[in-house]
Amino acid sequence: MRFQAAREDVLATCLALAERGYLAGTGGNVALRADSNHFAVTPSATDYYSMTAADICVVRLSDKKQVEGESKASVESGLHAGVLLARPECGASVHTHQPIASAYTLIGRPLEVRDEAHRALLGPTIPCVGYARSGTAKLATRVARAIEPDTHAYLMRNHGAVCVGTDADQAMRSMAALESECAAFFLARTADNSMKLDASVHALVIDTLESVDGTAYQSLESAGPPDRPRKRGVKATASEIIELLRDAKERFRAKGLFDDAGDSLSMRIPGHEEFVLVFPDSNDAQTRPFGKKGNDAAGFHAAIYRSRKDAGAVLIGSTRWSSALATIGTTIPVLFDEQARHIGKTGKPVNAGRNRRVLGSLERGGNIAIHGEERVCIGTTPDRVVLNAELFEKCAKAFVVAYASGHRIQKVPGWARLMAGGRLRKDQKRAAESYAAGRVPQGMNAY
Ligand SMILES: [Zn+2]
Repeated sequence: MRFQAAREDVLATCLALAERGYLAGTGGNVALRADSNHFAVTPSATDYYSMTAADICVVRLSDKKQVEGESKASVESGLHAGVLLARPECGASVHTHQPIASAYTLIGRPLEVRDEAHRALLGPTIPCVGYARSGTAKLATRVARAIEPDTHAYLMRNHGAVCVGTDADQAMRSMAALESECAAFFLARTADNSMKLDASVHALVIDTLESVDGTAYQSLESAGPPDRPRKRGVKATASEIIELLRDAKERFRAKGLFDDAGDSLSMRIPGHEEFVLVFPDSNDAQTRPFGKKGNDAAGFHAAIYRSRKDAGAVLIGSTRWSSALATIGTTIPVLFDEQARHIGKTGKPVNAGRNRRVLGSLERGGNIAIHGEERVCIGTTPDRVVLNAELFEKCAKAFVVAYASGHRIQKVPGWARLMAGGRLRKDQKRAAESYAAGRVPQGMNAY
């Protein structure tokens, strides 16, 4: 295998970033110069934890052609090529969806670097390039145009960050420094804005920001191993579904997404008008018909399956950031491309006990509704519901942090929301058709 060392370095860097919670699901990617005309880069829509050096792709800088690697190179390869071409002295270009810097991109303005040590790593001012969709040549061009010799970090509006360094280690240190600078910015603004905020939201935001450490950043919500998609059109029996559901339950618990007594998780049994329901504090798996009525959890899950033919799994429960959203009481806008693509529009938070209103909101096609302190999450498959829940938590966190600062928040432009929404609806249609034929649809993992 050619470029073995560079490929192994890419792999090690990815794992270190995922460990720190900087990649958020499958978002973010790493490019390292392999020789004067090649760089090694992560494959697109990756499961970082099952990846090997052989999966890492090699791309030629001069024509951006992929010359090695079994998978398709990251959609942001063009962006990395532009960065490495503009900065010939640098060996590493790293792109992340790190939480606090991503929240900062919602403000859409440059960041003045205050800390002396951080200035050395990042440069005096970090520009924020205007919005362009993820993975497009336009985004690559916007970043390439912003590159300056003494600026080592770049923010991308409603998206994330790119750090450039002599090597992976330096780029990683820049990432941590950037997260810390963004946290310091928000800390100061949130303190100024405290009068306008609910005390619990204020405390949550301050705690979160204070725990960001620029030298040894601890993961706030380490993503853990992302879930693998199921194969296309798998037929699943009721006992297989129960097995899958127990599996999903354990994964949720490991991520702290399923441990309140009031939480519930269910999965459709393809080919039957039935679903299986589990709770965190019981090993029972109840099978219930779609016709189940009533105001209990089973009745609510049944109503969701009746109205959403594409729903393969439903997760209901409260989490820190969705509860904070409920407390604020405003509608979360569409802030990131992946949110538009996989979650869609989320309605205004609905008071507890108003199941009908929640159903009405979900009927409009979004995959999340805020109901009292809980969020109701739909996915076409159990894998997708895991990813949607994690993605939404990230979006809610970015929104609440930016909101608490009192700054005006930028949204993904309407035309980009429309494009992503069209793809989401297509997936949902395909899932509904698959279930109607008695089969579990494809995982639909990729952006
Ligand atoms: Zn990205």
